[in-house]
Amino acid sequence: MKRISILGSTGSIGTQTLEVVEQNRDIQVAALAAGSNIELLEKQIRKFRPELAAVWSEEKAKELKIKVADLDVKVVSGMEGLIEAAAIPSADITVTAVVGMIGIRPTIAAMEAGKDIALANKETLVTAGHIIIPLAEKKGVRLLPVDSEHSAIFQCLNGEKNNRISKILLTASGGPFRGRTREEMKNIRVEDALKHPNWTMGQKITIDSSTMVNKGLEVMEAKWLFGVDMDQIQVVVQPQSVIHSMVEFEDGAVMAQLGTPDMRLPIQYALYYPERRPLPGERLDFWKLTEIRFEKPDMDNFPGLALAYRAGKTGGSLPVVFNAANELAVRMFLNRKIGYLTITDMIRAAMDRHTVIPDPSVEQILEAEQETYEYIESRW
Ligand code: NDP
Ligand code: MG
Repeated sequence: MKRISILGSTGSIGTQTLEVVEQNRDIQVAALAAGSNIELLEKQIRKFRPELAAVWSEEKAKELKIKVADLDVKVVSGMEGLIEAAAIPSADITVTAVVGMIGIRPTIAAMEAGKDIALANKETLVTAGHIIIPLAEKKGVRLLPVDSEHSAIFQCLNGEKNNRISKILLTASGGPFRGRTREEMKNIRVEDALKHPNWTMGQKITIDSSTMVNKGLEVMEAKWLFGVDMDQIQVVVQPQSVIHSMVEFEDGAVMAQLGTPDMRLPIQYALYYPERRPLPGERLDFWKLTEIRFEKPDMDNFPGLALAYRAGKTGGSLPVVFNAANELAVRMFLNRKIGYLTITDMIRAAMDRHTVIPDPSVEQILEAEQETYEYIESRW
């Protein structure tokens, strides 16, 4: 029986991972980690009986310890706790479903401990891909993509081991504001930006999808996962989210993966790769679908995507600044401290002033993150 550890078990990906576990009944949960939602975490502990539970907040961890005193579960906290959950000896796979660069150290710890990674936490790969990819090779662990586009590409590459990719066609829904000008997006409120047309996700990625920053992060994620250049990745807007992404090969053949938007599919595929398991749910009906539309992304009105290409092409510490600026900007927007368009203004300003460090170490990545926060806080 497979055993997994889930970092971010109370979130959108975390809860759907537990649904997949529940459906299949042949995966055991070794560890669960969350930020502060101990009410849900307690329910998950009672149902899935992990040996370890990690809570970021020390105070909340103390509360949880009392709540689950009747069970045989160890409760830990902070970064040390998160790392302990990530690298727990009894797990085979670590699902990285925390949000943000906080995932870097636990992901590295899990890989060092020989775990395969079911990777949802794209911010880690975007900011530390130059460390993660060689480490995976060195440790012989697999990086199994959970992000739907990357899972689609991964599925399109089945059996194509020795064939070169000429292009990755990364599809994008375009988000809720597709077709609008910047002027028309000036007064967007938090409530408007939290409505995604096709997917229900955590707050941060929902905002990122609306600004197209998410697609920018995904371009960089694809660069690392599939070893291609930024120029080989073409973003294609496909508003219905039916095509989850495509790969063009040297002979011009294009492979695509299609399906209804349901994150349980990529999650389950990552957990059981290369096996496919039954998954109940809606199916595509091609008689009703009748058409699939495509568009070119609007990088002028959605500068987040253009900035991501710049960050990814320059490399070094610039993707760290891109990502850290976005993480803080989104938090400030969600807290109603800044306007919607300021998100990408902040990213650009932070990138413009940064002196790029080639091949940054984990310490240098975390320093660049901190400097970016300090700069933004001093200016806005
Ligand atoms: P959510 O906000 O829904 O969940 C985040 C999870 O991380 C929660 O369990 C949260 O705990 C936990 N968490 C936050 N901070 C910490 C911390 N410091 N220590 C430990 N746990 C922490 O996010 P999503 O599930 O939407 O996204 C997770 C990742 O997956 C992101 O990187 C996102 O980009 C990626 N992804 C998500 C998709 C989706 O459909 N949602 C699709 C593709 C990728 P708590 O609840 O206690 O705050
Ligand atoms: Mg995605």
